Amino acid sequence: MTDVVIGSGPSGVSVATALLRRGRQVLMLDGGRTLGPETQDRKGRMAASDPSEWSAEDLGDWQAPQFDSPPGQVRRYGSDFAMEPGQETFVRPQGIGLRASHATGGLSNLWGAAVLPNRAADMADWPIGIDELAPHYQAVAEFLPVSGRTDDLQDVFPAFPMQGLSALSHSPQAGRILDRLNRSKADLADMGVRSGASRLAVNPGCRYCGQCLHGCPWGLIYSATQSLDNLFRHAGFQHRTGLVRRFEEAGSHVALTLADGEILRAGRVFVATGVLETARLLLASHPDQSRKLRLQDSQHLFLPSLHRWRVSPRPDQRPYHTLPQIFVEVDDPQISPYLVHSQIYTWNEFYAHDLITRYGAKLPGSAPLWNMLARRLIVAQVFLHSAHSPQIELSLAPDGRLSPSVLPNSATHGVMKAASSRLAQVLNKAGCTALTFASRPGEPGSSFHTGGSVPMSRNPVPGQADTLGRPRGLERVHIVDASCLPSIPATTITFTVIANAHRIGSLAPED
Ligand SMILES: Cc1cc2nc3c(=O)[nH]c(=O)nc-3n(C[C@H](O)[C@H](O)[C@H](O)COP(=O)(O)OP(=O)(O)OC[C@H]3O[C@@H](n4cnc5c(N)ncnc54)[C@H](O)[C@@H]3O)c2cc1C
Ligand code: SF4
Repeated sequence: MTDVVIGSGPSGVSVATALLRRGRQVLMLDGGRTLGPETQDRKGRMAASDPSEWSAEDLGDWQAPQFDSPPGQVRRYGSDFAMEPGQETFVRPQGIGLRASHATGGLSNLWGAAVLPNRAADMADWPIGIDELAPHYQAVAEFLPVSGRTDDLQDVFPAFPMQGLSALSHSPQAGRILDRLNRSKADLADMGVRSGASRLAVNPGCRYCGQCLHGCPWGLIYSATQSLDNLFRHAGFQHRTGLVRRFEEAGSHVALTLADGEILRAGRVFVATGVLETARLLLASHPDQSRKLRLQDSQHLFLPSLHRWRVSPRPDQRPYHTLPQIFVEVDDPQISPYLVHSQIYTWNEFYAHDLITRYGAKLPGSAPLWNMLARRLIVAQVFLHSAHSPQIELSLAPDGRLSPSVLPNSATHGVMKAASSRLAQVLNKAGCTALTFASRPGEPGSSFHTGGSVPMSRNPVPGQADTLGRPRGLERVHIVDASCLPSIPATTITFTVIANAHRIGSLAPED
């Protein structure tokens, strides 16, 4: 009987790739939302000309819908297709930054593309070791492009060697920061700090047009839809649209009930619906066994700073990209037994736009001042391990949506304060003055580095899964998205989710 993969985001395409390699038959289901034809046309028109030919009006039209996004909503290509509005998922979305996707390709249509493997020590308490994941990081790199270079971060993350890969060119601002960090290497090492070029899932051929946060006109930022295109070439692969509402395992098959009432039978089911939809599916399918699920989160914070060197060349003039430029890892047991991960962003158009929107109205005529400040702004995004972060408890509301409540973590404030003050020291060495008074923590879930609601365990108890992602009591249902991770390290989540989904797809029983 056919295997069914529910979801076509990064975890779905990864498990499907592994299953197809083993000669299995795969039917993939997803919510089916895609860019509309009008948006496709606009994207095509932008991609048809060289960035040097884009007029100010072209750029204004391309960027305006993203600037107008409501709070909490992330838009690309002027469309909300990839992110469900909060009220579709939650009875009370207020205070929760996490969102679900019903798109083909899932949230990877709009993600930040930062990719790192886990550090071995950060998963020492997992039931699988880094050696079990390492071959799958390599395997998924056959369909997920990774740009980056061999540098000081290599020793921290040996599970994925960067030899032979090339990195995107960093912005001139990032170049200056990296030079200064290199010159202070010894001091930084004493502070437990290593830094290097960001690792990004971006295809070769970047045009350095700077539109990464609005939607890449050439589709060079990896999206799972690119892997889906490859899956269509397999004779054993089928794909269709259909939201799954619940499942029931009965002997040698699993029955899936779709939103329109249709029932599909599968030999084995791989759930890759993203952590919120997976929670909803589990709660709807097993209301007694799992009345409440707890999502683990990676708390994050934005730390702005101003560089002290003269603005030259102007950072808002091409060529440049606006994805994370530099990764900084802090390994200091005084702050946390786990790595603290930071991503450094240099100039992007949101800086000036946000400053003018926030403060410009109060000071008429002050736009040039904010534009000038924006050209000096460098922002670090600091992430903590889930052990120091709040959790989000989810239960099923009578109308089928999720009812969330935040469970604060008493350690968050202290660990984040210590971590951001270490980052401020790093930024200072890099020639930037951190504006710690203006730092801004994200709402729970807003890092989108969230999961661990049904953590894998060697000896699962109710509410946990085995090392193949099967919730206790189920034989034929495997959870392969971030829901089955035992914890959420501060380093980026998706590379590990994809590798783990590939591992499960490679090991799942044959029958
Ligand atoms: C703005 C933003 C930036 C991010 N940046 C990064 C980053 O830089 N690095 C990083 O590691 N991670 C990042 N992430 C997180 C990353 O996008 C997710 O970890 C990743 O997309 C999860 O993949 P997934 O396949 O598990 O789920 P998703 O991408 O959520 O895909 C879910 C799939 O399931 C389908 N689906 C949902 N419900 C149902 C249902 N009931 N029935 C059938 N199909 C269903 C959807 O259509 C979709 O195909 C970011 C996320 C956001 C929003
Ligand atoms: S800079 Fe960003 S948007 Fe422009 S081509 Fe490169 S990846 Fe795409």
